[in-house]
Amino acid sequence: MSDADRYTCDDCGAEFAASAATRTETIGALDSDAWQTLCCPTCGARVKTVFVGRR
Ligand SMILES: [Zn+2]
Repeated sequence: MSDADRYTCDDCGAEFAASAATRTETIGALDSDAWQTLCCPTCGARVKTVFVGRR
């Protein structure tokens, strides 16, 4: 994952790089080691759940 990955918040319209997103563990049964939820750094809304893989 790199700074080239950019997302737009549906709630406030902010654009941000993946590296700037607030990351939280996913809700539910998804493996938190493999999946992370990217949240808007401006308003905190959940924007996307991404696969980060196992290390
Ligand atoms: Zn936002």
